[in-house]
Amino acid sequence: MSEPNQLPKGWEMVIGLEVHAELSTATKMFSPARNEFGGEPNTNVHPVCLGLPGTLPVVNEQAVALSIRIGLALNCTVQRCVFARKNYFYPDMPKDYQISQYDQPLNADGYLDLASGARIGIERAHMEEDTGKSTHIGASGRIHDAGYSLVDYNRAGVPLIEIVSRPDIRGPEQAKEYVEELRSILVAIGASDGKMEEGSLRVDANVSVRPVGADELRTRCEIKNVNSLRSVGRAIVYEARRHVDLYDAGDAPRQETRHWDEEGGRTRAGRSKEEAEDYRYFADPDLVPIDPSPEWIDEIRRALPALPKERRESLQAVGAEPQMAALAVTRDLDGLALATIEAGADCSRVMTHVANNLAVEGAERLEPVRLAELVTMETGGALTATQAKQVLAEMVDTGRSAADVAEARGFEAMDTDELESLLDGIIAQHAEQWGRFTDGDDKERKKMQGFFTGQVMKATQGQADGKVVNRLLSLKAEI
Ligand code: MN
Repeated sequence: MSEPNQLPKGWEMVIGLEVHAELSTATKMFSPARNEFGGEPNTNVHPVCLGLPGTLPVVNEQAVALSIRIGLALNCTVQRCVFARKNYFYPDMPKDYQISQYDQPLNADGYLDLASGARIGIERAHMEEDTGKSTHIGASGRIHDAGYSLVDYNRAGVPLIEIVSRPDIRGPEQAKEYVEELRSILVAIGASDGKMEEGSLRVDANVSVRPVGADELRTRCEIKNVNSLRSVGRAIVYEARRHVDLYDAGDAPRQETRHWDEEGGRTRAGRSKEEAEDYRYFADPDLVPIDPSPEWIDEIRRALPALPKERRESLQAVGAEPQMAALAVTRDLDGLALATIEAGADCSRVMTHVANNLAVEGAERLEPVRLAELVTMETGGALTATQAKQVLAEMVDTGRSAADVAEARGFEAMDTDELESLLDGIIAQHAEQWGRFTDGDDKERKKMQGFFTGQVMKATQGQADGKVVNRLLSLKAEI
């Protein structure tokens, strides 16, 4: 995919993303407290996630299995790994360290292929625990001028995977595509719900710029916790332009953490970026290394469901347009669409329903044979497109068959004779427009065709078949 380079000529962006995703486990990473979003503050807690003295962490096997699944889906090497303490002092971190992985991560050296053709390297995908959540009470909501702060430990200790890409991303659109693809993989393999709006998926972007064609890596800034796809793109463009401006002025960016200010549309300096040594990493003495056996890894590999890329390709193989196939997979309706098409229904009509009429609750419960029946009624002329849409909505609501719903609503495609006499009446009422249709140039003719179709649709409340109306109009113009 080529995208307009949003930088002055001669510059390119160099972007690496760190994505934190909360894993869909029943309990937390090292304690039996429930892993659940939205509970009353401080109700899903346990002495381990409160960091109380004398407690010991116990690794959640389900979290490890999901993390291996992620590693395999991202073509990583799954290897022996060690938990490390990452030391820093925050009130949402009662132990004063986060258990993470450092020099021996679970997954390393993978890649992710984007639909647009680019391959983005994955440096590592390691396990760690989430922190609690602070709320600063004060005018700005920031810690500096807060009167006091509240801490909710429900999130403390929730299992996380941190997926670190290589600096292979070249622009905001590609960055968004990468996050979307990653998100859909995590959802498809049941590893995370991927909800950015609930903070289950959080993106940090490392941004630098360089002259086009250079392969140096210049000083980067890390933009923290950008919490929507749109913001990811905006923050990257802002930051890259800031770097170019600095270089143009004979200056240079300094390595630091920056925060995205959504309202101001800019990044702001945070702390100067810590080096790894600031965290004083060391192997956690309370936890043994994990060395997944080849048998376990194989078992997880065999149980991997089809990934989004493969699912898109399956739909394209039966005739779906690439963009429609992608949309169907994003909505998790590709299985329904594929089975419906394989049951004999017309591909483009099925995909039209997926795109326009099935972005609703309950659509996933629709049975392929039922959807196929509806589409067949439509292609056979028993239902118009408008009727089919209404029937489909009721099928999703009630689970009834297309034939039942159509009959109960009294839908039969309008008889052509009936339509013709209706059209004759409309033509008689609009002689002037009719003249413009029969004698006008192509443009005028097209305009008047729309006018007459609109009149017929109005008179029949959308029950007429637009194609038949057009055919009748052409016939009548020739007589
Ligand atoms: Mn992290």
